Amino acid sequence: MITKDISKAKEILLKDELIAMPTETVYGLAGNAYSDIAIKKIFDLKNRPLYNPLIVHIKAASSIFDIASEIPENALMLADKFWPGPLTLVLKKQNHISDLITAEKNTVAVRVPNHRLTLALLDQLDFPLTAPSANPFGSISPTSAEHVFNYFGQKIDVILDGGECEKGLESTIIGFENNKPILHRHGSIAMEDIEKISGKLSISTHSDTSPISPGMLSRHYAPQTDTYLTNDVSKLTNLLKGKKIGLLLFKNKVQSDEIVSQEILSKSGNYTEAAKNLYAAMHRLDQKKLDVIIAERLPDENLGKTINDKLERATKKH
Ligand code: AMP
Ligand code: MG
Repeated sequence: MITKDISKAKEILLKDELIAMPTETVYGLAGNAYSDIAIKKIFDLKNRPLYNPLIVHIKAASSIFDIASEIPENALMLADKFWPGPLTLVLKKQNHISDLITAEKNTVAVRVPNHRLTLALLDQLDFPLTAPSANPFGSISPTSAEHVFNYFGQKIDVILDGGECEKGLESTIIGFENNKPILHRHGSIAMEDIEKISGKLSISTHSDTSPISPGMLSRHYAPQTDTYLTNDVSKLTNLLKGKKIGLLLFKNKVQSDEIVSQEILSKSGNYTEAAKNLYAAMHRLDQKKLDVIIAERLPDENLGKTINDKLERATKKH
């Protein structure tokens, strides 16, 4: 059922079942973070490998001490600046946090989401919620209740409808090594804005067989349709002449009769607006039964960097 009624969501969660919940980033597939039964259901329903840890969602910054220990001062300053909001901190875990959530690491990812309905729900619960994005593993994240329903239908008893996600991109994930901040995943807060508080970030190195963060897997956020990422859309469109082509463009349309469908992320070239529209545009193109999607690379600055990162992962072949 799709509803705005948080008491229905609470009822389901108390039975160790799952709900979908809105956040400002993307919709989450949520369960009781203190119930291994619920946590297992998240991995099963998403078909997510167990080596990919989940984020714990808490109702207020003060709850961080229930989840994490030995928290660096830098982390507290970031939490103070960006919570509630799209920043996830990876910190040393408290002993009682389930190994399923952390994929047996000694760290846990935690954030306070910034969505009225979900904060109201968390406030009524005496446990935090753990939630990855509400999509099958590897596919495009959902930014509306309808996207979630299209993926899972009746398999989720309650989809809390909080409208379209305000940010539309995952949270930025920051961890620490010897108190030095490290970027684990590009997200909806630009690196530049984090660095104003944290100082210079180093970027996490990773491999697909041992990813520190699932968001760092080389293929992720991917449409079913073959997708290319390019600096020169016209040239690639010409090369692929005769195919059913859809375009994913930053701000300007392309004049061409060959193109079946064009999505413009932000006519005014605004990165925040482009981020918000990205996944919905990818969902729409993916439903058009195209031969190929050609995506335009954005300038590599600010949220353009995050969007390029997601597009790169969308275009990698299996
Ligand atoms: P999702 O919400 O589907 O994007 O998945 C949760 C994200 O949390 C993953 O992409 C990981 O990057 C991140 N994550 C969770 N726990 C950890 C951890 N202990 N260390 C690093 N990243 C984590
Ligand atoms: Mg995800």
